[in-house]
This record gives sequence, structure tokens and C-alpha cells, in this order.
Amino acid sequence: MSQRALVTGAGGFIGSHLVSYLRHRGWWVRGVDLKRPEFGPSDADEFVVGDLRDPAVAATACEGVDEVYALAADMGGMGFISRDPATILHNNALININTIRAAQLAGVTRYFLASSACIYPEHIQTTPDASALRETDAFPADPQDSYGWEKLMAELLCRYYHEQYGMEVRVARYHNIYGPNGTYDGGREKAPAAMCRKVALASEDGSIEVWGDGSQTRSFCYVDDCVEGTYLLMRSDHREPLNIGSDRLVSVDELAHLVFAAAGRDGLGIEHVEGPQGVRGRNSDNTLLRKVLGWEPSVPLEKGLLETYQWISRELAARSVA
Ligand code: NAD
Repeated sequence: MSQRALVTGAGGFIGSHLVSYLRHRGWWVRGVDLKRPEFGPSDADEFVVGDLRDPAVAATACEGVDEVYALAADMGGMGFISRDPATILHNNALININTIRAAQLAGVTRYFLASSACIYPEHIQTTPDASALRETDAFPADPQDSYGWEKLMAELLCRYYHEQYGMEVRVARYHNIYGPNGTYDGGREKAPAAMCRKVALASEDGSIEVWGDGSQTRSFCYVDDCVEGTYLLMRSDHREPLNIGSDRLVSVDELAHLVFAAAGRDGLGIEHVEGPQGVRGRNSDNTLLRKVLGWEPSVPLEKGLLETYQWISRELAARSVA
């Protein structure tokens, strides 16, 4: 009989890709989410529509599975996570407390938490060329916002469930994941998807708006690399948090130019406007990732952005004729 996995947040961006990845590897997969995937049917064998803030939903979702991938979260890009800090901490804490408890009571053997680069202290990310973040940089803790504080609490929950109950836990700190089938409008979208949308909709020789002065830096990891790294981490014996991200640092203006190139629209301009920017510079140090998994993300940003741009422009075109 095939092994059974639960993916929470299976209606979301990374969760829906992870469901497909696990199914291809022969796993029986149950998904749970507030909603079904926005862009096409789920590949899950079973899909529970439910709210993990309710412990009874978490219990039902965890019933009879061997492993849990906990990806559900109330989240979005900088605009979203800087707006409602109390709601984010409240919702995500309930989701994670309920899910790990239900998993432990159901006898789940392995538990994965999707944490975030947002747990790293703000004061070591104040310049565009700030040093890449190592896993050991997390403490003393000083995340920038409530989203990061909650992820840190959820990481600690994993550590203590291992200490107290012997549960096998795996924790990835994702760094800016992007790719097709992600939200690209409505206020929760992240920078790469927002830029692809703006470029696709820009008038001939027009310009796109970029929040801030455009010299803030990030690294961006393609979703196929993210789900592969997630699976490899789950299969490893590494119980401490691990970065999953690219270590190619680009400024937000450089990202915009890469999207222009992907779209074949190099004539577009950039207009810098006021907006939430997050930390000034953030990169992933992949030394530990390479050592632990013997692997690191490999999809070039140019290729990933091309796939993402083409998907978003197709979506927009389909929408305009609908
Ligand atoms: P997403 O918003 O597309 O997916 C999250 C899903 O969780 C959504 O479908 C949402 O409906 C669901 N959800 C929210 N509240 C819920 C609830 N109460 N009960 C059940 N489901 C609920 O986000 P994503 O980009 O796919 O992120 C997946 C995970 O990875 C999240 O935990 C996120 O914090 C983490 N992460 C993502 C990134 C990134 O760049 N995308 C970076 C760091 C960490």
C-alpha cells in the first residue's frame, strides 16, 4: 500500500505543486485548505475544504496519514503582511498549534513545517548587500513583523514536539518562492508575480510601478526547486531548520528588467513609488543546505521568470475573453 501524506494549504501556490509532486512519487495524498486551488483541479486523492483554526478540522485532516506537510498560512506579499499583524499572528498560530497537536495525536511519524526567511532578525538585513542569512543567525530573535514571529513560534513548537513526544520534525525556511499557479493580483501577490502582471498589462513604451527605490535586494527560488528541496529535506535526518532558497541576489529593479526581458519588452520603464519594502537586503546562505542535502536550487531565474510570465499573461488573456 502506498504511503499517505497530508498537505495543508493544498489549495495554495506551493501546496498545490507539492501535492502533484508527491502523487508523481507514488504517495496517496490528502489536501486540506479553506479553498480548492484557484487555477485548475487539485491532484490530491482526497481534498478536505476546512478551516484549520478549528481543532476538529485539523483532527479529521490528520486521520490515517503517515506524514504531514504543514503549509497552510494566512499570508501574502509585503503589502498584505504589513497590514493586519494581529490577524496574521492569531490565525497562523491557531493553524500551527492545531495541526501539530492533531498530527501527534494521530500518530503521524514525520511532520514538515513551511517556515520563512522572515524569521531572521531585521537588524542584520539593513543594507542591499547584507550578508546572506545562515540558519544560526535566527537568534537572538528580532523578526520584522508578526508573520515572522509566528513562524518562529511554529519552529519552536516543532522542536518541543520532538523533545517531548519524539516526533520527527523537518523545518524549511523558504526564501521568496515564485512560479506558475501563484496568486498574481488581489493584494496577496508577491513581487515576481506582481511584476509579471504589471508588465503584461503595461501599455506600449509605458512603465511599471515598483515600491521603494528599487535597490532593495532579494533572492528568488522557483517553485519546482522548492518542492524538490522540501521532499529531500523530509527524507533526510536533519531536524533543525534549513534554508530553502536561491543564493543569487538581485535588486528589485534588476528583477523588473529580467521580467521585461522575459516578456520581450525591454522598452518599458520603471516608476518608483511609495510602498512597503520589507527588509533592505535578504539572501539565503546555502552552505548548510548543500552539506545536508547535497543539493541546492538550480532553475535559473531567467528560465523561471519566463515560465511565470508566460503563465500569467495566458491567465490574463483568458480572463479578458471570459
Ligand atoms: P498560499 O497563500 O498560496 O497558500 C497558503 C494556503 O493556506 C492558502 O491556500 C490558504 O487558503 C490556506 N489557508 C489559510 N488559512 C487557512 C486556514 N485557516 N485553514 C486552512 N487553510 C488555510 O501561500 P504559499 O506561497 O503557497 O505558501 C505556503 C507556505 O509557505 C506558507 O506557510 C507560507 O508562509 C510559506 N512560505 C512561502 C513563501 C513564498 O515565497 N511563497 C516564503 C516563505 C514561506
